[in-house]
Amino acid sequence: MALNFYNSAFPAQRQVKLTSGSNKCHQNVKNLVSRVGVPSISCSPDESLQKGNWVKLICGASFEDVVDIRNLSLVYTLAGVDCIDCAADASVVSAVNEGIEAAREIVPLRRPWVMVSVNDDEDLHFRKAEFDPENCPLDCPRPCENVCPASAILFEKEKSIAEVFYRANQTGEQKSGVITERCYGCGRCFPVCPYDKIGMVTYVRDTAATAELLRRDDVDAVEIHTSARQIKPFRELWDGLDDSITYLRLVAVSLPNIGDETVSSMNSMYSVMQPCLSCFNLWQLDGRPMSGDIGQGATRQSIEFAVHLASAKYRPPGFLQLAGGTNAHTVDGLKRKGLFQTSGEPKQKHSIIGGIAYGGYARKIIGRILSSLQPQHGFACIEDYPDHLLEALGEAIALVGTVYMERVEMSFMGSNTSLTRGEQF
Ligand code: SF4
Ligand code: SF4
Repeated sequence: MALNFYNSAFPAQRQVKLTSGSNKCHQNVKNLVSRVGVPSISCSPDESLQKGNWVKLICGASFEDVVDIRNLSLVYTLAGVDCIDCAADASVVSAVNEGIEAAREIVPLRRPWVMVSVNDDEDLHFRKAEFDPENCPLDCPRPCENVCPASAILFEKEKSIAEVFYRANQTGEQKSGVITERCYGCGRCFPVCPYDKIGMVTYVRDTAATAELLRRDDVDAVEIHTSARQIKPFRELWDGLDDSITYLRLVAVSLPNIGDETVSSMNSMYSVMQPCLSCFNLWQLDGRPMSGDIGQGATRQSIEFAVHLASAKYRPPGFLQLAGGTNAHTVDGLKRKGLFQTSGEPKQKHSIIGGIAYGGYARKIIGRILSSLQPQHGFACIEDYPDHLLEALGEAIALVGTVYMERVEMSFMGSNTSLTRGEQF
């Protein structure tokens, strides 16, 4: 579904970057990574899970803007994430890996695991908004455009990055409406349209294509999004993935809190997976999907979900990791509940909560900087803008650093910055 230009136009841009000498301008970035001591200098992703230090960047199961994804992956690799979760699309996976390798050219960190997200049935994360702007009344104040957190709704008169995106890569004219590659299905535009013009198209990732992706050397993990209410579609997807599972380091299942049935459903899914599971497994507790950027309270449901599962006696094996509404307040919320980097029963050697995944909030704090880049040739490599990269890295560390450091201290851009968990950068 993602644009297919990635393997042609973008590497050409990269060649420009590789000869630009911009690496020489990254001493401040290197200093910051060194000073913070990001765990990926010395700690493997599975060790992070054991310690409760695990951090995952969620690019978005449906977000397919490969330019932003490449730059986000670069920034968060430098910030020390353990995993980058993206759409199960070959172009998107290549963009993530490109960003990781570009980061490792600046600082030789260990590579985060690359995870692809798929669904076993209809799921909020796997949908796109659509409407025909020709049908919109001319005097509509366009609340859809204002509410969209991904800048995925644009109208022809407004010149933007999306225009560059389209003009450079599509043979057709610039179009108005939903920029499909940027829409990640949050649904916020849907209820604000006063004329009921917006629809949602759902889709299920193709299992055979996913299995091919999982066999790639640069893919380490899969995440299966499920409603947890029916085992049949989960079993069908799992069986369809066949031996591709054996190539992985981690299998994650992302599920909502369905109350008293949650643990029995997890056990049913585990019994399906267990015979072929030769790697780590993880349960992603999806509190309030795709909402971390809307405010402090958005993280409450993921904390409540964690509390629920932490006290569940008969849950199946596997790390627990929060997502859905996670933001700069999540670590403090876990600490208040006594669940942050806390060991379980005496027999359990690892933390009850393995870590935290950040999605919309992580993208939002960097998106502001990415949108301010002004590329001369259409696509911006953030490392060609050292000041922007340093600022973005500061923002990223201020978020994910709260998971792996007690106190995040930074000194860059002429000022000293010191942050404790929960503070905004
Ligand atoms: S669903 Fe969300 S991301 Fe997609 S266009 Fe609507 S507001 Fe934007
Ligand atoms: S709010 Fe509805 S009618 Fe107005 S521009 Fe958006 S989609 Fe069109």
